[in-house]
Amino acid sequence: MPLESAEAIVIGSYVFNEQDKIVHLLTSCNGIQKIVAPGSSKGKNRFGSLLELFTEGEFFFYRKEDRELATLSKGDIITSYFETVSEPGRIFYFYLIAEIVMKFVPPNFNTERIYKLIKSVLNSSRKGTEMKYLILYFMVWILRIEGMMFETGKCHKCNSQHNMKVWVMPDFRGVVCEKCRNGEGLLLEKTGVEFIEWTKRKSASEIFKTLSSEEYRKVFRILKNKIEYHGEFSMNSSRYLVDLN
Ligand SMILES: [Zn+2]
Repeated sequence: MPLESAEAIVIGSYVFNEQDKIVHLLTSCNGIQKIVAPGSSKGKNRFGSLLELFTEGEFFFYRKEDRELATLSKGDIITSYFETVSEPGRIFYFYLIAEIVMKFVPPNFNTERIYKLIKSVLNSSRKGTEMKYLILYFMVWILRIEGMMFETGKCHKCNSQHNMKVWVMPDFRGVVCEKCRNGEGLLLEKTGVEFIEWTKRKSASEIFKTLSSEEYRKVFRILKNKIEYHGEFSMNSSRYLVDLN
């Protein structure tokens, strides 16, 4: 059986057949792949920390003709983010990122840009950038990469710019200004708009903008609702993030 390989980041796993695990891998350009890691759920799993959440590795696997899933044969860690990801103040943000990637990225999507986005979030977090802003950065960019991020800088109906307040349209196609507003719900103030616009030009490690906690919650809720609306799922992991609810 020919051995295939992929550079990938672990984004999830669960026990399967008592001794094995099914591991979800975000590959560097070949979508999300599910593979079986035999013997990995026992106390002494032979893959060691390769299968920790958000470990980046080179994975080698083979396919049997009668099996739907490929089987992991071995792997080498490229970068371990275990210390960063498992830190108590960060872990739930990373659960949320993993959940969004698993539920929101379509099968066979070209994952090259998402892979780079995750790497930049991991590296920035390791250098000390606050997770509460990195999660916003991540959510804005995953929407942009999938071609779903709406224009926040101008009114969807009259094209007016530099509004002090805008409202997100119920179908999340855009925002409308006070004049064009017709009962639309979620309010986004100028600082929130500026944060979203600013992510276009900056990398994850350059986050210096901050928002008041009220504004922060508004931006988070809008992005969360938009992702849930288009992805047709609800983000279970967000309930652990007390700051955001
Ligand atoms: Zn308008």
